[in-house]
Amino acid sequence: MKIAILPGDGIGPEIVAEAVKVLRALALPLEMETAPVGGAAYEAAGHPLPEATLKLAQQADAVLFGAVGDWKYDTLPRPLRPEQAILGLRKALGLFANFRPAICYPELTHASSLKPELVQGLDILIIRELTGDIYFGQPRGRRTAPDGPFAGADEAFDTMRYSRPEIERIARVAFEAARQRRRKVTSVDKANVLETFQFWKDVVTEVHRDYPDVELEHMYVDNAAMQLVKAPKKFDVVVTGNMFGDILSDEAAMLTGSIGMLPSASLNERGQGLYEPSHGSAPDIAGRGIANPLATILSAAMMLRFSLKQPEAARRIEAAVQKVLAQGLRTADIAHEGCTVVGTAAMGDAVVRALG
Ligand code: NAD
Repeated sequence: MKIAILPGDGIGPEIVAEAVKVLRALALPLEMETAPVGGAAYEAAGHPLPEATLKLAQQADAVLFGAVGDWKYDTLPRPLRPEQAILGLRKALGLFANFRPAICYPELTHASSLKPELVQGLDILIIRELTGDIYFGQPRGRRTAPDGPFAGADEAFDTMRYSRPEIERIARVAFEAARQRRRKVTSVDKANVLETFQFWKDVVTEVHRDYPDVELEHMYVDNAAMQLVKAPKKFDVVVTGNMFGDILSDEAAMLTGSIGMLPSASLNERGQGLYEPSHGSAPDIAGRGIANPLATILSAAMMLRFSLKQPEAARRIEAAVQKVLAQGLRTADIAHEGCTVVGTAAMGDAVVRALG
């Protein structure tokens, strides 16, 4: 089992080091190779996604990714900015299915901005289609240069588009995931206004015929945004397009109140995946040893489950995270009265000890 380790920028190297520590402690036959990505790769090789890094990712069974970006790169031309690395990897690996679980741990219920009873026991999974929709349609406008200003323009537009195979494969991913959970899928669309999403709804309904054991409901995106804060526990698996998924997955993430806790996975048709925390590179706290490594450690657990087919090892990591939280250990971002505040490395060590 070969893993490409891409730590990236900011807190990326600090949090990835803890996830690697946990993976090593499992004593599985894992081969790990590290390569630069993002701003670090721009500094080292003049490009955020160097050929050698891309090759390593393509040859690996899975990629463990930290985070990329720093404000100091904001003035670079767009193709050289760190964030292009993640877009390049998604495209090159064909990562069309983005999994973003939002789980509220009992010990962290207080971190949510919602009332505790609304989020206590929350466990939902947002599945976002990642390679289609309006983000990959035809953009049009009258820029003075490809990345220049819209001088004198009177309109700009983007094209929303989905093909049948694109909808079918993401719908299957959602129904399969629901079979491992509470067997309910909510397909989110805007079929009342957009042709693309009437088509989405029709195709999801057709695919559902193969999954009679899973309940399917359709919901308009505006209602879904509302229901997520009104009664989030009603959901199990939510499947939606790229743009609605972008927005709803961030909303769902914030239900738990702790961005440092949320893992994510992006998978292709071969089950190869890129695993990363849902947060960014947090340049404001980089290098201080205070970042929360749990989102990255939980991303490594998702990697073991989805790409490396090691569900038992994944469960061990998840149980170990629950255990350290129950012990009262907290990094600064999730700290509260009465807890023990620890740094990044100490949190990683505690998870290793809790593996048992
Ligand atoms: P961010 O997620 O990096 O940080 C937002 C806030 O959350 C900050 O206050 C930060 O300190 C805190 N935070 C984030 N992760 C944390 C952790 N593990 N532990 C403790 N606190 C944590 O978002 P931002 O500040 O908007 O973006 C910073 C940079 O990250 C930008 O360059 C942005 O482009 C990039 N970014 C990268 C990715 C990615 O690599 N996939 C995703 C989002 C943002």
